[in-house]
Amino acid sequence: MATSRTGTAEWKNVRAVVLKEARGAGQTTCPLCSTWLNWNQSRQPNSPEPDHIIPWEQGGTNHPSNLRVICRLCNGKRGGKQGRAKQLQAKREANTKPIDAKPSFEW
Ligand SMILES: [Zn+2]
Repeated sequence: MATSRTGTAEWKNVRAVVLKEARGAGQTTCPLCSTWLNWNQSRQPNSPEPDHIIPWEQGGTNHPSNLRVICRLCNGKRGGKQGRAKQLQAKREANTKPIDAKPSFEW
């Protein structure tokens, strides 16, 4: 009953294998922006992340031939993830608007 492709056990497994193989193969840089990959820390802008070469939405698969490792920054710029980030950003901005619109009576 998985609703998110990145939340499935299969994807977690594939993700781990792709990262392990890229590291084992000696990949040190992002193929898109040539930044140095940080294999020791996750959630950094240059942390390695698996990427679908053909996006999942366009029929790409989780097969290793369709996967490569790029930096987290590039990954965030690609595909649906960016859309989701924009949605969250818009939501956040909407939440702060009432405060900004509050009239000020300071003297
Ligand atoms: Zn990159």
